[in-house]
Formats: sequence, structure tokens, C-alpha cells
Amino acid sequence: MAGLVFALCFLVLQLRIERFIYRKIRKIYDDVALLESTTLTSQPITTDMRTLTEEIEKFAKDKKIEIDTLKIREEYRRDFLGNVAHELKTPLFTVQGYLETLLDGALEDKAVRKKYVVRANKAVDRLIYIVNDLDLITKLEVGDLRLEKEDFNIVSLIQSVFDLLEMKAAKSHIVLTFDMPYDTPIMVHADREKIRQVLTNLLVNSIKYGNDNGTTEVSVENLVKNKVIVRVTDNGDGIPKEHIPRLFERFYRVDPSGSRKAGGSGLGLAIVKHVIEAHGEKIYVESVVDVGSEFSFTLEKSKT
Ligand code: ADP
Repeated sequence: MAGLVFALCFLVLQLRIERFIYRKIRKIYDDVALLESTTLTSQPITTDMRTLTEEIEKFAKDKKIEIDTLKIREEYRRDFLGNVAHELKTPLFTVQGYLETLLDGALEDKAVRKKYVVRANKAVDRLIYIVNDLDLITKLEVGDLRLEKEDFNIVSLIQSVFDLLEMKAAKSHIVLTFDMPYDTPIMVHADREKIRQVLTNLLVNSIKYGNDNGTTEVSVENLVKNKVIVRVTDNGDGIPKEHIPRLFERFYRVDPSGSRKAGGSGLGLAIVKHVIEAHGEKIYVESVVDVGSEFSFTLEKSKT
């Protein structure tokens, strides 16, 4: 009889403890919203302890990753705002400086007033240039930019960018050229205007960071059956190896003072990378200091 009572008590106690633990575990599950409570009820409580530990660990790990990502994003945003303010300040103060000088009396001085207005206007142009780049990169980053793909001849697009930049290149005595004559069209399927921007940014950089009397060569080669690779090669300054991994970051500059003087927004390569990746293509860079740099990107050939 005593044995029976003991067994009964034991069973009741066991059951109650199990229920108690079960309720606690379930509460934890509910609290962290890990699982639907129904999936829990079908499993025995004892083995659930292991599952619970595993799930909690997984949950903690996921949350940590989420928090880290948010922290990085927050830091990124703070950096971005700081950088934008910094980039805008210089031209803005230039405009203010000239306007104040004019108001303080230079307006009456025929000899200088036109010069000052022209300079202020140049600074406004620079502001617009930076804001346009900011606008473009923001659109690219929020995925707001729809590509309008079409078939076009990449050789003639390159030629038209050459023509547009000829004067700028001539100022630095740099020659923009193809690596060989391209007599037949090479048709690709991409967003022509965005690729024009990519080519412009790469060629402008090759001029800005090129050597006097240098050459920038562009080539278009077959890569695989349905791809071509466009290479932009210069014999300019080159880029030290340690900077290459960060080159495509917004506002990243190898030599901050030198580059800003050269007049970029610090967003050129970030835009290039976004556009190429939006196409599902790849961008590469190889560079040797004092030898030169080569930026290359792939494009899809047109099917027709
Ligand atoms: P920006 O030219 O406005 O500074 P970019 O994003 O176009 O910004 O370029 C980032 C940096 O990469 C430049 O500041 C420069 O230091 C380096 N760079 C880009 N292209 C070249 C090149 N062809 N040769 C040498 N350095 C380059």
C-alpha cells in the first residue's frame, strides 16, 4: 500500500513538475516568439530543454547579428551625413566669401566684380555637381533606380564619351584612345545612359589621376560566350595596394587633399560599382603605384 501511495505521489509530482517546467519553457518561447506554441506541445518536455537551449542560442546569435548590422548602418549614416556636410561646406563658403566681398564694396569695383561673380558661379556649379552625385547614389542605394536596358553599340558610346572629355584630357595633355581600331559595332544589352556615366567617371578619374602626357586606353574584349569586358587603362599615379579594398566606398579617397583639389565628389567609383552591380555585372581594379591603373567591368552581349 505504502509503495503504491509512493508511486502515485511520485507520478503526480513528476507530472506537476513537468507541467510546471513546460509552462515556463512555453512562456520563454512565447516571449521570444521563437516558435508557434503548437510545435512545442507535440514534443516531450525533457528533450525540449536541448532544443530550447539551441533555439535560444540561435535567437541570441541572430539578434546579435541584427544589432551589429544596425550599429554599422547607424555609423554609416552618421559618417555619410558628416561627409556630405564636409563636401558641401567648401563650395558653399566660397560662394559666401565672394558674395560678401561684393557686398562689402567690390560691387563698385569694375575690375574685380565680374571675376568674383564668375568664381562664385563656378562654386555653385560644383555644389550642383556634388548634389547630383548624392542624388544618384541615394537612388542607387535605396534601389530606386530602374534600369532601362536596350541594345546599343558600346564602341560608339565610348567614342562619344571620348569626344565629350577631349578638351578636359587635352588640358592635362592626356590622350584618350582605343587599344585598336574597332571597325565593327559591338552590341551590348544594358542601360546606355548609366553605362555612359560609368565610362565618364572612369575616364575622368584616369585624367584626374593621370600623368601629364599620359594615355588612357579603352578596350572591349569577348569574355565568355554572352559577355564582354570593357577595360579602362591609364598610366597614371596608380593606387597603393592597401587602399584598393576600400576604393569603391562612398567618399573614400587615397589622398583626401589631392583628390578634393582635383574636383571630384568622392562618389564617382561608388556610383560606378552600384550601376555595374545593378546590372548584375562585375567590376574589377588592378593598379600598381607609378605604373597605372586598370578598371574593368563586364557587360551582357545583346542577343540579336
Ligand atoms: P573622387 O575622384 O571624387 O575623389 P572617386 O570615387 O572617383 O572619387 O575615386 C576615389 C579615389 O580613388 C580617388 O580619390 C583616387 O584617390 C582614387 N582613384 C580613382 N581612380 C583612379 C585612377 N585612375 N588612378 C589613380 N587613383 C584613382
